[in-house]
Amino acid sequence: MFVVGLTGGIGSGKSTVSAMLASRGAVIIDADLITRQLQEPGAPVFESMVDRFGSGIVAADGTLDRQAVADIVFHDADALADLNALVHPAVGAEIANQLAAAAGAPVPNGAQRPVVILDVPLLVETGRSDVEVVVVVDTHEHHQHERLVTQRGLDPADATARMSRQASRADRLNRADLVIDNTGDLDQLEREVERVWQELCARSAPTGIASEE
Ligand code: ADP
Repeated sequence: MFVVGLTGGIGSGKSTVSAMLASRGAVIIDADLITRQLQEPGAPVFESMVDRFGSGIVAADGTLDRQAVADIVFHDADALADLNALVHPAVGAEIANQLAAAAGAPVPNGAQRPVVILDVPLLVETGRSDVEVVVVVDTHEHHQHERLVTQRGLDPADATARMSRQASRADRLNRADLVIDNTGDLDQLEREVERVWQELCARSAPTGIASEE
């Protein structure tokens, strides 16, 4: 299969792009979704987190109180390291499971192998050796901020803080093999995704075939 890393800052339009790629036949592996699923009540990661941090991280409805977790780890490096040690290996194992399953996925029209999009928000920050191509969704930082505030309802200061904890636009672009420009409207984004999809299909020819011809 052809494993493509997809990344982009918060509010860049990464989820929107992911859905557009899925509609073209790509398999999407979404690290954020996996993390949320592993933190649902009853899931082993949820239970380990409650063991470590106490029932104060459980909201009245029994689900994880993410803000309470954030408040604990924000001021406590040991707590953050423990949280990462509880969550990251489990997320990594589930990504590996889903990658293994994706090997048998259908080959999209125009591609040579199943195309798997590994949607990992911190791809640039943490790196991954198993992706063949890194696709970055790029937009102006002021667009990211505006979308987070107007479309997701984040407080402006919170939006700024979340953006500042991620790689900069320049760092991300430096790591990109292909860039999806999301500085325009949604129609322009759809055209950008189509252009990059065609490029991915072309690059999905297994390495070596081109040189054997
Ligand atoms: P991310 O996954 O990168 O955080 P999303 O794909 O969820 O970002 O996009 C954030 C919000 O901005 C969503 O409500 C989405 O519909 C909207 N959005 C994304 N791209 C555009 C665009 N080019 N024009 C207008 N709205 C957009």
